[in-house]
Amino acid sequence: MKKEIFIYEEDKDTLRFLRSFFRGRDDYSAHFIKRDEKALRRELVEKRPAAVIVNSPDGLEHINPSEVECPVIAMISGNVTNGIRSVVKAGVEYYLLSPFYKEDLEYKLKVAIERKIWFENLYREKKDLEALIELTYLVSSTLNPKEVLYLVVKKIPEIINVTRCSMISMGVEEQRYAYVVSTFEDPKITNIRLDLQKYPEIRKALTLKKPVIIKDAMKDPIMKEVRDIIAPIGIRSIVVIPMVFRDEIIGTLFLRTSRAGHTFTEREIKLCTAIANASANALYNAFLYDRVEKEKTRLERLAITDYLTGIYNIRYFYNRIDEEFSRAGRYNIPLGCMMFDIDYFKKINDTYGHRVGDIVLREFAQLVKRHTRKPDILARYGGEEFIMLLPETSMKGAIAEAKRLRKVIKEHQFKSLKEKREITVSIGIACSPDEKIKSCDDLITLTDDALFTAKNRGRDQIVVYPPLEESEK
Ligand code: GH3
Ligand code: MG
Ligand code: MG
Repeated sequence: MKKEIFIYEEDKDTLRFLRSFFRGRDDYSAHFIKRDEKALRRELVEKRPAAVIVNSPDGLEHINPSEVECPVIAMISGNVTNGIRSVVKAGVEYYLLSPFYKEDLEYKLKVAIERKIWFENLYREKKDLEALIELTYLVSSTLNPKEVLYLVVKKIPEIINVTRCSMISMGVEEQRYAYVVSTFEDPKITNIRLDLQKYPEIRKALTLKKPVIIKDAMKDPIMKEVRDIIAPIGIRSIVVIPMVFRDEIIGTLFLRTSRAGHTFTEREIKLCTAIANASANALYNAFLYDRVEKEKTRLERLAITDYLTGIYNIRYFYNRIDEEFSRAGRYNIPLGCMMFDIDYFKKINDTYGHRVGDIVLREFAQLVKRHTRKPDILARYGGEEFIMLLPETSMKGAIAEAKRLRKVIKEHQFKSLKEKREITVSIGIACSPDEKIKSCDDLITLTDDALFTAKNRGRDQIVVYPPLEESEK
């Protein structure tokens, strides 16, 4: 591409020299500007020439070199003293004295333009380095690694012209999926699953273990299979940079520009690679952090779960009944408690064996849990006994619940048992407030007493404390 040179010159001889210099050249194209100050300024701002050639001193009166972004070369053709004085005053670095020589202009133009480009690059590199230092500082901070990654992806569009920027983490077990750990569009977006089948560019970067650059997503053969999907999104240029931690690819930096945007420059890719390298550690920490969090949740759940039935264990139940009992007392709201005991369970063990007995117990617990209302808390009390807490439930409500559950259990065909109705339950219920219930232990004891009565009365029935009046039955 030809470099545009603006010429602001009125001296006839100089003009002749310049015309002859620029005639037929394939490296420069010259634009001769008329003596119109406004037009000149407009042209300089809009067209951004590679250099400006002006007459000194006359031309320099209209051009302030410190306001012009390109190098200025002064042509001194008249009074040498005035010309040089004007050049020095304006701070112009390059000038030619009449008589002019083509070689002289050739050299000065070349040096001026090269130096300008060199300075620009240096300035950009300085900026990049500053950004990189800032990011390196950030990724080595003690912040939550996810926050760090978000700050990184938020920073990138400030340095590079991108429309979308995300950090992707590789799945641990499945090769087919990856996860968006962070995206600059929204700090809350995290761990969105990506089906790599739909991202051939990411797959390629993982296979090659090198950055993949797609200049035009609509034309690049890699993107052929997904062109219909990405066309409406208007993606133009894509860069995928693998993030390596201890020789292993743990994720990628994923940058895209929109249709109207530019394609990525070499400098941008270099900078992004440096960012990706600096952030790999944080990405690995985020992965560890997630794993620890998951493990913590798993352990917490395990600590309150009964290993055989998968429902809450008695420890959790005691904690909850403590809380619920105080709350009920404080706000004067009812609290129901229900205990189930499977009838003649020994017979199930004797008939089918202990292992089947275990399976039946699990199925029983899961069945009841499935039919339990959300606020109610079901736990294994021990052996084949279960206990349920019914917050904000009066005796009437608790009885309705018990009847419903008793029916569900009775109607259920257990997978390992031959016949329906092999499993029945006896249920005891007690409810606070009641004059005899002063603590949650009283509530449990009275529920247990009611259950004992149900057993004594022949099983497969519901008994409540305090006993119902005839009219309530
Ligand atoms: P009922 O309650 O009607 O009086 O009769 P039952 O046979 O159910 O009563 P009992 O309390 O005498 O016996 C409980 C039985 O439940 C004994 C035990 O073998 C069985 N059992 C308790 N826990 C488990 C368990 O974890 N797995 C299996 N398979 N059986 C259990
Ligand atoms: Mg029993
Ligand atoms: Mg029992």
